[in-house]
Amino acid sequence: MSGEMVKQTIQIYARVKPLARRQQAGIYSVGEDEKSASTLEIIVPRDLADGFVNNKRESYKFKFQKIFDQEAKQDPVFESIAKPVAECALAGYNGTIFAYGQTGSGKTFTITGGAERYSDRGIIPRTLSYIFQQLEKDSSKVYTTHVSYLEIYNECGYDLLDPRHEASRLEDLPKVTIMEDPDQNIHLKNLSLQQATNEEEALNLLFLGDTNRMIAETPMNQASTRSHCIFTIHISSKEPGSATIRRSKLHLVDLAGSERVAKTGVGGQLLTEAKYINLSLHYLEQVIIALAEKHRSHIPYRNSMMTSVLRDSLGGNCMTTMIATLSLDKRNIDESISTCRFAQRVALIKNEAVLNEEIDPRLMIIQLKKVIQELKDELALVTGEQRTEELTQEELLQLDEIIKTFLEDPDPESTLDVGADMRKIKHCFNYIKQLINRTNIPDRSLLSPDITGDEDTNTPEKKEELKKLRDLLHQRDNEINILVSMLKKEKKKAQDALFQLSAGSRGLAVSESSLSISLEEGQRPSACVNVKDTQDFSSSVQRSAFLPRKTGSGGEMSLGRQEAFEIFKRDYVDSVTIEDNKQLLKKRFAEAKSLGEKVNEVRNKINHLKGEIIQRHMQRAALGVASPSEELNESDPVEESLRAQIEEEKKSYKTMFNRLKGLKIEIEHLQLLMEKAKVKLQKDFEVWWSEETSNLQDQQEKLPMSNSASALRASLPSLESQQHLYTNSCSDTSRVNPNEDRGRKNNLNRLSNSTSDTRTLQSSSSSIPLTGDSQTDADILAFIKARQNLLQKKGLGNK
Ligand code: ADP
Ligand code: MG
Repeated sequence: MSGEMVKQTIQIYARVKPLARRQQAGIYSVGEDEKSASTLEIIVPRDLADGFVNNKRESYKFKFQKIFDQEAKQDPVFESIAKPVAECALAGYNGTIFAYGQTGSGKTFTITGGAERYSDRGIIPRTLSYIFQQLEKDSSKVYTTHVSYLEIYNECGYDLLDPRHEASRLEDLPKVTIMEDPDQNIHLKNLSLQQATNEEEALNLLFLGDTNRMIAETPMNQASTRSHCIFTIHISSKEPGSATIRRSKLHLVDLAGSERVAKTGVGGQLLTEAKYINLSLHYLEQVIIALAEKHRSHIPYRNSMMTSVLRDSLGGNCMTTMIATLSLDKRNIDESISTCRFAQRVALIKNEAVLNEEIDPRLMIIQLKKVIQELKDELALVTGEQRTEELTQEELLQLDEIIKTFLEDPDPESTLDVGADMRKIKHCFNYIKQLINRTNIPDRSLLSPDITGDEDTNTPEKKEELKKLRDLLHQRDNEINILVSMLKKEKKKAQDALFQLSAGSRGLAVSESSLSISLEEGQRPSACVNVKDTQDFSSSVQRSAFLPRKTGSGGEMSLGRQEAFEIFKRDYVDSVTIEDNKQLLKKRFAEAKSLGEKVNEVRNKINHLKGEIIQRHMQRAALGVASPSEELNESDPVEESLRAQIEEEKKSYKTMFNRLKGLKIEIEHLQLLMEKAKVKLQKDFEVWWSEETSNLQDQQEKLPMSNSASALRASLPSLESQQHLYTNSCSDTSRVNPNEDRGRKNNLNRLSNSTSDTRTLQSSSSSIPLTGDSQTDADILAFIKARQNLLQKKGLGNK
């Protein structure tokens, strides 16, 4: 470790989530009174002051580094909070950014981003993008980046980057455990580190993890509110030729919801007792309290997995930043105040980040070799003998004589004295070893293949045959060797072809250096991007987008279920976003394509200009031959202007090329978002479907007839009344967020259209069997009922 150290307290920021309703304005204000800090004032409304906030004060003030109010977009949040930390990580310091706040206050939105818009992408994708941009710029070092993604639920760690991606429950993911080495360093066993060589690969890993996280969540475990997720970027860097390696870790942490009390009880009642306390958050608080106290020596890191993993981030070797996410509406005032209080304590914690440098073992070897040489020199100086590596022939003969005499001497008292020379001592041992081996030779020769113990082999015929077989064996050996080397060549050829194919299909792999203009190259037609490449580019993006995932039911869906899925999909709130993104994606593809065409045009133009220069040269040369008196050294203004034009075109090429690159990243991100939305749709459908089927089964069991379509039909009226009950009890607790609200309005028309669909289907179902297949009929009916249920929940079914 180098001595470079940065002492810093944990930086705290606040971010206020946009409020749902206007009435709550005026609950807080932000004061920018000081240079390096701002103050958040929370004003408790009068009607609440006597209620659950049991305090006379009406206003609370908290200091933060900076406060992002509800208008703040993702970009400035990244710029002020994450970029400086990413820069430190690139320089070799550890960094941590964690979001703390109650469920729904915007932790995931801030750390990972919104699930809909590209502009809503959060700190993780932006940081990845920034880091890879910087790596590309810095050619003075060799960088390696890996990522890991850990979820901690209920004191168990799970690896979200499980490449098998088949997990449907949290328990299916590889379990991660903590190991402490003798130096009390924490190691995470079973957490995979996946190498990411560029932004695209890193982004794919992030989405893989997020999808695993989503798939693994069930209403039972409520992982998204009760688990902690730690996305870590591991960077190592080394200057070529230098011996020191720098390694740093950047943790981006989405903590569990900090709420203590479940406030939304049945019928909107306020629950006063703690219904659920997240233990590891409790221990996080203990650690923070201990750290904030001046003279505490014992910090209880070991109490929970999360505090163990984040040990360095809290009071250790790390630059740490906390984002307090606040949902400042009336109902959440007390939670918001407690989040702010927590932040104030966190701000007292002092960290000491050191530059994480290690020596490369290869340099160590070079250094040790040097030391050995020095010691040898010193030894030679002391003993007065120049010791070469080997003993001379003469010395060896002398030595052999001494040994022989010694061995032959019958006197048991005789000694063998060769002096304090390791080489001579070793030689004696070797001599004796050889001697012993030689006496063993007869035994060993028994095992040799020539004399296998079979007397017959000694006959001349057998000997002849043996020789023949041996020759044959030799021949076959040669043949095999030839075949192997042929095979190797073929394999290499195939690999090269594959490589070329993949390089060719990636339009952006075209290097800018191919643009460098040299006159000899002028005729080569195959340079740079052409339109075909651009088309391939879009298709390659499409291909690369996401990993195939088992949906669990895709192939084996029954007809009824398929139908249900189609309609569920149509009515699905998020399908509007999916559609929007699809349109946007189309637009971006078109843009990429036309940009690719433009790039191609510019390339042609450059080639054309190069051709003109060549012609110009030839003309001038001809002129030189015709009239040698002409001054040929004189610069040619025409050529100069051509060159200037080429420079211009190169510039515009570069601009377009960069834009194309940006488009590529955006397209990939959009595709990943859509892929995720699709998986979510599938999952929501499965959950909804199984709920509805089990509801129906309960209903069926109460009826005398069983398991036939007519029985189901007969059960319709009773189902309906039950649904009304269900609808009523749900309406109080159902929460509306602004996005859902919008989606609902957009879907209103579709839903009312589909209501009439249902009725048609339903009326037909009451008279004749739908398909004749009772299972399918049951499925369809189940679906119809479930859908009515859904519509009624949304307040659209009038039945
Ligand atoms: P948490 O992770 O803290 O439980 P989320 O990040 O899931 O909360 O946020 C809850 C909802 O609020 C999500 O729908 C999210 O998109 C939205 N949201 C949160 N913060 C913002 C913000 N700053 N701007 C717009 N929408 C936000
Ligand atoms: Mg969340």
